[in-house]
Amino acid sequence: MKRVLERDGWRCRKCGSLENLQIHHKLKRSQQGNDSLDNLVTLCAYCHLAEHGQLGYEKSAAEVIEKTVQPGRRLPWSSL
Ligand SMILES: [Zn+2]
Repeated sequence: MKRVLERDGWRCRKCGSLENLQIHHKLKRSQQGNDSLDNLVTLCAYCHLAEHGQLGYEKSAAEVIEKTVQPGRRLPWSSL
């Protein structure tokens, strides 16, 4: 997983954020996605939520992130 972060320069690929970085699977494992670098992309927590369609509007996103992101942990959702 660290190789993905290194490839992407430890930045969110969508917004360039350096914080709360997570690994996003372009294809979920249930959709025959795998752990190859091609299938993984670095996203911040906010963009990761958006990518999974969990954002209704900005306020709810902020609330979700507050509950799910723990300071000091870079990859809380590496299995998503
Ligand atoms: Zn982002």
